[in-house]
Amino acid sequence: MSTRNNYREKDAMKRPTIAIIGAGTVGVTTAYTLIQQQNIAKIILIDINEIRCKGEIDDLTDALSFNPIIEVSMGTLKDAAQADIVIITAGLPQKPGQSRLDLLDANHKIIKSIVQGMEPINPNLIMIMVTNPVDILTFVAQQYSGLPKQQIFGSGTLLDTQRLRSLVSKKIGIAPSSIELYVMGEHGDNQMVSWSTATVAGKPLSQLLDSNEFEELAKQARDKAYNIIACKGSTSYGVATCIATYCNNIIFDTKAVMPVSCYVEQFDICINVPAAIGQKGVEQIIMPSLDKEEVAALQKAAKVLQEHIKGNS
Ligand code: NAD
Repeated sequence: MSTRNNYREKDAMKRPTIAIIGAGTVGVTTAYTLIQQQNIAKIILIDINEIRCKGEIDDLTDALSFNPIIEVSMGTLKDAAQADIVIITAGLPQKPGQSRLDLLDANHKIIKSIVQGMEPINPNLIMIMVTNPVDILTFVAQQYSGLPKQQIFGSGTLLDTQRLRSLVSKKIGIAPSSIELYVMGEHGDNQMVSWSTATVAGKPLSQLLDSNEFEELAKQARDKAYNIIACKGSTSYGVATCIATYCNNIIFDTKAVMPVSCYVEQFDICINVPAAIGQKGVEQIIMPSLDKEEVAALQKAAKVLQEHIKGNS
């Protein structure tokens, strides 16, 4: 999906430079997605495995021969720090059966060394965390970078939300984009759904779909990553499309509202809530009017994340 039609010249960034740290499955799929959408000038790719990184750049360059307005090159953490947007996908992925939180110890060390290795950092940089557990590592990057918190956010439950909207869409015959419904909380096993405020054109979703089906659909969306990883070892296309969507909202300063892992003062951690994304990053959190059970589920997710942060620091 290209946001070219939404281009608002007065608000748009110049075609930006985007650095991707981690040239593995997710990083490279994101690079390819951004190249196809043609909204950027340059991609800088960084990985500790320089041979793999070189091979990925050479391979991507073949795609660029059809579209030479975009440049792809290998860089350093210092180069990444001077980009307009940096996307962090470096770190261990889940193995079959592993939860995202199981990756915390190993990936915390990697993210700390990456963020510290980037200094000094462009004060306008927008950082998008992807490495799991994304909510905690977004918070970690905020602690080490010194950037305003709104400029660092994580690609979290946008993916789960799209998965759930697609499942609901098949049931009710309405496009996913017309279903106002958010997966919130942890990008992981403690995610929750804003069913009580879910609507289509202002009509409660419960008048279009039997609410007895809600829990099973939420489970299918929550488990989808596990099922994909069990079949092919990793997930890539959905998350890459989410990351590119965040980038386009920054580039074109759309201020579109979507779920994002961001700092929420009430919990003093990063957790997924709907927010407006624009050139300054997370510009405005819009907390839905959740019912009592949903508030409790969001609080439970926050508690789990808080406990892992405490146990890991
Ligand atoms: P991958 O193993 O294919 O790629 C990871 C890359 O990171 C490797 O190329 C590795 O060499 C590199 N790397 C490791 N340490 C590094 C360092 N210090 N500096 C630079 N590069 C380093 O894994 P993947 O499938 O691309 O997944 C990457 C991460 O993204 C995982 O943590 C995974 O769980 C996460 N992920 C998040 C989402 C999401 O929705 N947020 C979705 C899918 C995957």
